[in-house]
Amino acid sequence: DKVRVKTALLSVSDKTGIVELAGALVEQGVALLSTGGTHKAIADAGLAVKDVSELTGFPEIMDGRVKTLHPTVHGGLLAIRDDEEHKAAMAAHGIVDIDLAVINLYPFEEVRSKGGDYPTTVENIDIGGPAMIRASAKNHAYVTVITNPADYDALIGELKANAGSTSYDFRRKMAAAAYARTAAYDAAISNWFADELNLGMMRHRAIGGVLKEEMRYGENPHQAAGFYITGENRPGVATAALLQGKQLSYNNINDTDAAYELVAEFRAEQGPACAIIKHANPCGVATAPSLADAYRRALACDSTSAFGGIIALNQELDAETAREIVKLFTEVIIAPSVSDEAKAIIAAKPNLRLLAAGGLPDPRKGGITAKTVSGGLLVQSRDNAMVEDMALKVVTKRAPTAQELEDMKFAFRVAKHVKSNAVVYAKDGQTAGIGAGQMSRIDSARIAAIKAEEAAKAAGWAQPMTKGSAVASEAFLPFPDSLLSMVAAGATALIQPGGSIKDADVIAAADEAGVAMVFTGMRHFRH
Ligand code: 5GP
Repeated sequence: DKVRVKTALLSVSDKTGIVELAGALVEQGVALLSTGGTHKAIADAGLAVKDVSELTGFPEIMDGRVKTLHPTVHGGLLAIRDDEEHKAAMAAHGIVDIDLAVINLYPFEEVRSKGGDYPTTVENIDIGGPAMIRASAKNHAYVTVITNPADYDALIGELKANAGSTSYDFRRKMAAAAYARTAAYDAAISNWFADELNLGMMRHRAIGGVLKEEMRYGENPHQAAGFYITGENRPGVATAALLQGKQLSYNNINDTDAAYELVAEFRAEQGPACAIIKHANPCGVATAPSLADAYRRALACDSTSAFGGIIALNQELDAETAREIVKLFTEVIIAPSVSDEAKAIIAAKPNLRLLAAGGLPDPRKGGITAKTVSGGLLVQSRDNAMVEDMALKVVTKRAPTAQELEDMKFAFRVAKHVKSNAVVYAKDGQTAGIGAGQMSRIDSARIAAIKAEEAAKAAGWAQPMTKGSAVASEAFLPFPDSLLSMVAAGATALIQPGGSIKDADVIAAADEAGVAMVFTGMRHFRH
C-alpha cells in the first residue's frame, strides 16, 4: 500500500510553510511542479521547480482562471497506475504520474468575511484548485493530497518514516480532509450567494464550515469538539481576536455568541449597553449613559449568577469599565474593540479571556442558524426581527405611558435572547428579573420575580425592581394566570405576541388589574 512520491504539484494561495515544505521534498528526491505565484516563491528560494505550463505546453490564461485545468495535469492525478489502458493513454499523450498534490484554495471565506466587493468575491472562487483536490482525493489509492499547511509536518514525517513513500492509511486520511475542505468551500460560496440575493429558501444553500480549531473537549470533558468557520461576514466570536487568556472552550464560545448577539440588539449609536450571560441565558442586561454604569446596572440584576459569566459590551471597552469588571471573577469579555488602557487593566487577570470582535453584528441582517438532530441538521433563517419594526397594538383600555413603552421594548428585545419560556421584567433600561427555560410560562414568571427580590436584597433596595416595571413574554400567554403572577410582582405593563385562543380572557384580566398590554404579533421562540 506504500506509494513512492516522485513528482509533486504545489499550488497554494496561502504560502505559509511552502518553501520549507518544498525544501524537504527536494531533499526526499521529489521533483516539483508548480503554478505561477507558488513557482516564484519556491524558485526564489533557490529550489529546483518546474512550471506547470512547461508540463502542459499551455500558458496560464485569463488572469489565472485557467492554469491547471488540463488533461496532462488531471490525467497525471487520476490515472490508475497499473491499468493497462490508463498506461497506454499516458504513453500516447505524454502524461506523467503526479503522486502528491499540495493545494490550498483562493481565500474565498476570508474575502467574504471581510466584506469584499462583488467582483473581488467572485474572482476568489477557485476552480482549478478544487478540481485537483477532488481528483487527487478520488485517486487516493495512489495519490497523496494535502490541503492544509497544518499537515505539512505530518507529510514530511510520513515520507521520512516510509523512505520517501506514503501509506494507504495516510492517503485516505488526507483524502477525507480534502473533501471536507472542498465541501466547506462550496458551502461558503452557496451561502454567500444566498445571502447576497436574500434567498430564504434552503434549497439555495449548502451547509458546511472549515475547522478553525479543536477544543480540548465539548460541553462535557468526555465529548470531543471543534469550532467550524462558515465565512459569514458577521463580527462575533468566530472572527474575534483573542487579546489575552486561554483558548475559548466549547461552552465559552456558545455563551459568548449568545452574549454578543444580545448586546448587538442595542445599537452603539443609541448609547452603551452591557449583557452578562451564564449558560447561554442573560442574567443581567442594562443600558446607561456610560459603559461602566451599564455594566454596574447589568451586574445588579443578578450579581450572584454573574459570577464566572460572560460579559458583552456594545462599545469599546474603556478603562473605567475594565476596572469594574476585574473586581469580579469573569470568564470572557467581548467588545467591538478594547482601549490600550483597558487592555493593561485586564492584563492583571491573565486567565480572563478578552475578545475584540472588530465591530457589532447587524441584528437585522439575514443568515442562518443550525442545530443537529439525530440523523440530520435543522436549519432556519436567523431570527432577525426587531421589536422596533413590529406593528405594536395596544389591546387594553389603558395605553402604556411613554416610559412603559420604552421598558416594554427593552424587555422584549432581551426576551428574544432568553430560552423559552422567557419572561423578562425591565425598568429604566435595566432588566429587573429574568425567568428562562421553564416548561410552563407561569414558572418563568415566578422565577423572574424571585430573582428580582433576591437582587433587591443583595443591593439593599427597599423594593424589587419589578415594582412598576414592564414585563415581556417571548410567546403568547395561554392563560391569565401568568399575567396575575406578573401583576403580583408589581408589573404595570405587559408586552407579548398575542394570538392565544384565550386572548380575550388575558385582556380582561389586564383591564381589571389596570395593566397596559401591547401585542407584537410576532414571537421570539428560542429553544
Ligand atoms: P499561484 O499563487 O501559484 O499562482 O496560484 C495558486 C492558486 O491557484 C491555488 O490557490 C490553486 O488552488 C489555484 N489554482 C490552480 N489552478 C487553477 C486553475 O486552473 N484555475 C483557478 N481558478 N485556480 C487555480
